[in-house]
Amino acid sequence: MKITSIDIFKMDMKLSYICAVSLGSIPSAENILIKINTDMGIHGWGEGSPYSFITGETQATCIEAAKFLGKLLIGKDPTAIEENLTLIKRYLPTHPSVRSAFDMAMWDVLGKECKQPVYKILGGKNRQLRTDQTMGHENSVEDVQKLAKKFLDQGFNEIKMKTGRPGKTDFNHVKAVRDLVGEEIQLKVDSNQGWNLAESLNNARLMESLDLMYFEQPLPVWNLDDMIRLREKINIPICADESVFDEFDAFKICKLGAADYLNIKLGKSGGIHTGLKINAIAESYGAKCMIGCFTESRLGLTAAAHLVLARPNIIFLDLDSALILGEDPIIGGMKYGEKNKSFISVGEKPGLGVELKEEYLQKWKSFKVE
Ligand SMILES: [Mg+2]
Repeated sequence: MKITSIDIFKMDMKLSYICAVSLGSIPSAENILIKINTDMGIHGWGEGSPYSFITGETQATCIEAAKFLGKLLIGKDPTAIEENLTLIKRYLPTHPSVRSAFDMAMWDVLGKECKQPVYKILGGKNRQLRTDQTMGHENSVEDVQKLAKKFLDQGFNEIKMKTGRPGKTDFNHVKAVRDLVGEEIQLKVDSNQGWNLAESLNNARLMESLDLMYFEQPLPVWNLDDMIRLREKINIPICADESVFDEFDAFKICKLGAADYLNIKLGKSGGIHTGLKINAIAESYGAKCMIGCFTESRLGLTAAAHLVLARPNIIFLDLDSALILGEDPIIGGMKYGEKNKSFISVGEKPGLGVELKEEYLQKWKSFKVE
């Protein structure tokens, strides 16, 4: 099988909730959609959700990067994933969202050629999954409690709160949510690099009684030394997110003992291919993984869900971005429960099992590489 052409779409979508974090906030989802076309009539879909604060890429730079990678891949066999992804990373070590979109599209093609869902090709087993839901920085205790109440009503049993602000605001907000939800609901906090060591220690001391699952990325991405010091001093586990893009980061963090958990995001790792490597390293160190997202539609989240089905070591799920999109351009793929939105089910269709609604493909600006 050979790649004959690649379609690149500017995948613009509205958001129904703007999730403010310590790095900043994005007002709408400006994603990139990739369609790989082949000489066998099989096509594959992939999505990237550039988040400039973390991955240093924007939709505009992703479009150019995709055209560049597209030219590199014309004539190649899309099912030779290891070889293609190695080539892609050699030519473009940056732009993980774009690399991730190509990775997904290739797994989609492989699955369709084998007439099997991607999780099965990866040796996984289908089951129902459950995700948390995230709340951004809110203005008041009343606001966080109102949102937490809404999440409970939707069926969530895990809530992730964005922290990373100075002073006692984060503690007051997390405590207000704990008071409201009771002991049964799992709470996690994610500071997105917002604290320094002293602030992390202060917050850990204040929050120690709130029964948190973990502190996610409390410190700046480069500061592994203080992550090690923090981990030695507090009783709350640490989850590395922005500090772990690929298998090399994972190896370094595990070797140094800088974190308890690693957060895999396909948009950081460059797709399933590298997500598998990160998970394998975490497993060999005795660490569990989390899977997170940027602002992907159900397409990107479907690829992430297939990886989770294939690797039970990935135990924490934060695959909620499609719940804050104001529109849903996807047919098939992962679905949230009708009554309980925290449940995720993935079907049995070949590949990723996803198609795009024609009205969106007509509406979004597109480019063709052939
Ligand atoms: Mg995070």
